[in-house]
Amino acid sequence: MPICPPGSLTVDVALRVVLANAPLLEAEERAPFDAMGATLAEPVMAPHPHPPFAASIKDGYALRSIDGAGDFDVVDECRAGELPQVSLGERQAVYITTGAPLPPGADCVVQLESVELLEPAPAKRIRVRRAVSAGLEVRPPGFDIAEGSTLLRAGDVLGSAELGLLGYAGWPAVQVRRAARVAVLSTGDELLDPLAPAAHGAGLRGGCVFDSNRPALLAAVLAAGARPIDLGVARDGPAALDAALDAALGAHDADVLVCSGGVSMGDRDLVKPLLARRGATHFGKVWMKPGKPLTFATVPRATAAPGAPAGARAPLLVFGLPGNPVSAYVCFHLVVLPALRQMQGASSPGLRRVAATTVAPIQLDPERPEYHRATLVSGARGWEAHSTGGQISSRLLSCSGADALLELPPAAASLPAGTRVSALLIGDVRSGAGWRHDALPHPIDPLAADGAHAGGGGSGGFRLALVCGADAASSAAAECTSAWLTARLAPDCWQAVRLTLPAEAAADESVCAQALRPLLEGEGTCGLLLLFGATGPAGTGLAAATRALTSRAIPSLGSVLRAACLPHAPAAALLGASCDAALAGSSLLLSLPAAAAAAEAGLAALLPSLPHALAQAGAPGLLRLRSSLSLGR
Ligand code: AMP
Ligand code: MG
Repeated sequence: MPICPPGSLTVDVALRVVLANAPLLEAEERAPFDAMGATLAEPVMAPHPHPPFAASIKDGYALRSIDGAGDFDVVDECRAGELPQVSLGERQAVYITTGAPLPPGADCVVQLESVELLEPAPAKRIRVRRAVSAGLEVRPPGFDIAEGSTLLRAGDVLGSAELGLLGYAGWPAVQVRRAARVAVLSTGDELLDPLAPAAHGAGLRGGCVFDSNRPALLAAVLAAGARPIDLGVARDGPAALDAALDAALGAHDADVLVCSGGVSMGDRDLVKPLLARRGATHFGKVWMKPGKPLTFATVPRATAAPGAPAGARAPLLVFGLPGNPVSAYVCFHLVVLPALRQMQGASSPGLRRVAATTVAPIQLDPERPEYHRATLVSGARGWEAHSTGGQISSRLLSCSGADALLELPPAAASLPAGTRVSALLIGDVRSGAGWRHDALPHPIDPLAADGAHAGGGGSGGFRLALVCGADAASSAAAECTSAWLTARLAPDCWQAVRLTLPAEAAADESVCAQALRPLLEGEGTCGLLLLFGATGPAGTGLAAATRALTSRAIPSLGSVLRAACLPHAPAAALLGASCDAALAGSSLLLSLPAAAAAAEAGLAALLPSLPHALAQAGAPGLLRLRSSLSLGR
């Protein structure tokens, strides 16, 4: 396991250093609605119980449970917002509406649907068929919220439910932490400003690129509940950088300066020398990918007012983010965002961490821990992490639609599909890009789920079977391929069966048929049967048994599969019928070559046409399979 090299900090340590320097901002009073998104600086206690009185849960009749079943005289009405006028005597009832206080003497409510009116409404006589117990359809005082209990804690972020609770408490104003003032600066001689009106329609000049960091960082600051201050683009020169720093400290009175670019090793990378000259640099190298040159410094303020001591206010926090757009974006989320949250009063400023399962192999970096951008998709077994594609630090597209940063360890290896990894949330998964592939469009019925799994398939998943009948030369490859595909498809299977036939067995049709039949018969057969090795000499029995057991070939799928496999597995051409697709009952059988590259190419080629083919085949159990396979696209 590689260790953090001397001179670098791990991200955890870097974050601790930053948080130790991030001061809590002052509290200020705001009207509740203006405080939306801010963090509470004080707890909010319940000033009264809720409900404040015994309240009816239903529209119906309040009565005394001791009177049992039978006929009652209706002696009054009690509506929400009114105080009861009468006290109930024997066999007396009061018409009552939801939320109204129970009259003295009453201890229960019988809902309208359970009462027989003995005369037209408004009835003065009613019949209750069954005796009811005390407390029925009644919320006693304090049932929802006890007086004096904690409604909100200091450090809670105010969302719509929290504003409702403030309303419930009747608070006209609330103490929240003020928003951090965050100045954002891009540095680089090559940068054109897309936010400047002069740039509109002007297009790119030679050697230049548009500044993408500033728009992204200004927006990220805003999303953090802080107040963004746009410092524009500074050229790569000491004077321009000094001027920007002065502006952050002076005119804008910023709490934080986030600048990007100019922290690498080149002769025009002047941010680090500037910070060393004007303040204290806490770190300038972090063991992470992307974002290695991430720099953090504090710069003292000049005396704020005549007579006021220098340093009366906390120093300016300065983050020097690397210029590559992905590095800047990742560093902001890993280090700057938690600092802003802490300054603004959050009790738990770090990014939320969840477990996710990878759906495809991911190449690890041999030297540095990597923060791999991924979209989270909800599958039958929880979050699945789908990589956002090429992860080079200049490709900002990898951040678009990314809900999470997968925390990948350094290793000279590839992480297999199906690996559980930790994922730091950086997006709003409530409305994130993953909805396009979510396998859970409807709520899971917790009562039905067990039955579906135990009963075999149905809407709870499909059964996957992988059968290897390869010869000795390719059996290892077939095993690897089947393991990889199992991991990839497992989250949507209720059962995955893997079977390896020895070479003699794979050559014998009747032995193969015996092995395949239980996978295709009986309850819960709907699913996918993948066969490996039927293209090789050992798999002749497997190929023959497959042909005998299938009810309907799907030649169109077969030819797509064959064409895709061919460049990777020449044997696919020799045994024409082997790389084939067919239905057996409600199962889909696909014969694949043993080599992983060929099997992967074959399946990938099939995915676009599979939904249509399956719809035509009309195998109802395969509906679920369709959505699962489409995830791979
Ligand atoms: P630097 O960190 O200044 O060495 O820049 C590294 C790379 O990021 C270079 O290719 C820059 O052109 C690019 N870059 C720096 N700042 C920005 C920015 N604000 N927007 C887009 N690309 C940038
Ligand atoms: Mg630069």
